[in-house]
Amino acid sequence: MITIKSDSEIELMREAGKILRDTLNMLKEHVKVGVTTKELDKLAHDYIISRGAKPSFLGYGGFPGSICASVNEQVVHGIPSNRKLVSGDIIGIDCGVIYKGWQSDAARTFAVGEISEKHKKLIEVTEQSFFEAMKVIREGARLGDIGAAVQNLAESNGFSVVRDLVGHGIGKDMHEDPQVPNYGKAGKGLRLKRNMTLAIEPMINEGTYEVSALDDGWTVVTDDDGYSAHYENTVLITEDGYEILSL
Ligand code: MG
Ligand code: MG
Repeated sequence: MITIKSDSEIELMREAGKILRDTLNMLKEHVKVGVTTKELDKLAHDYIISRGAKPSFLGYGGFPGSICASVNEQVVHGIPSNRKLVSGDIIGIDCGVIYKGWQSDAARTFAVGEISEKHKKLIEVTEQSFFEAMKVIREGARLGDIGAAVQNLAESNGFSVVRDLVGHGIGKDMHEDPQVPNYGKAGKGLRLKRNMTLAIEPMINEGTYEVSALDDGWTVVTDDDGYSAHYENTVLITEDGYEILSL
C-alpha cells in the first residue's frame, strides 16, 4: 500500500532525516585506512541512540548491524565485521533511523585513501544520477521518469544499473510500496502524488549489472567482481518538486 503522509508525520520524518544525515556526516570523518567496518557500525549505533532515535537496521530480518557496510564489489547489505579498510577501497554505508516511529533511509559511498580515477568517477556518477532523478521528480511525474533519469546518466558514462534491487516507499515502515527502480522509461509507471515519501537509491556498477547474494544470506556482490557504488536519500514529493529529508 502506498501511504500519503500528513504534515505532522512529515515533520517527524524530517527529524529522522536530520539525525540520519548527521550520522552519515559523522561516519565520513571516520572512514580511514585501518578502521574496521564494525568500528564504524558501533559509532553509528551510539550516535543514533545519543540523538534519541533508534537504528532501524539492527535486528531487521535478523540483521546484526546498525549500518550496512559494503566494500568494493559488495553492492549492498554488507555485514559490519573486523575487516580493516585499506587504501583504494570504496565503501558504501547504508543506514536507517527511526524517530518517534518514523523512518529515514540513506546511503553514501566513500573513498578510502587513494582510489583510482575510474572509481572516483563511479562514486560521482552514482551521486549525480540521484540528482538527475531530482530534476524530474514532482507531483504528477511518473516512476519511470526517475528510473530513466538515473539509467541515462549511468549508462552514458559507461556504467550499469543494478536491476535486482530497487528503491522504495518509506514511512512507518522502512520498506513500503511502491518499488522505485533505477531503470525504466520516462512517461511510464505510477504517477507520484504530493506527500508521498520515497527512498531513491541508485546502485551503479562499473561492470555487469548482474548481482548475487553471498552465503551469509545478506551481502550482495557483483557477478564479475567489478566495484559498485550506492547513493540514497529519503525524499518527499511536493507539488512543484521535492524535499530531500536526509541531506
Ligand atoms: Mg538504505
Ligand atoms: Mg533503501
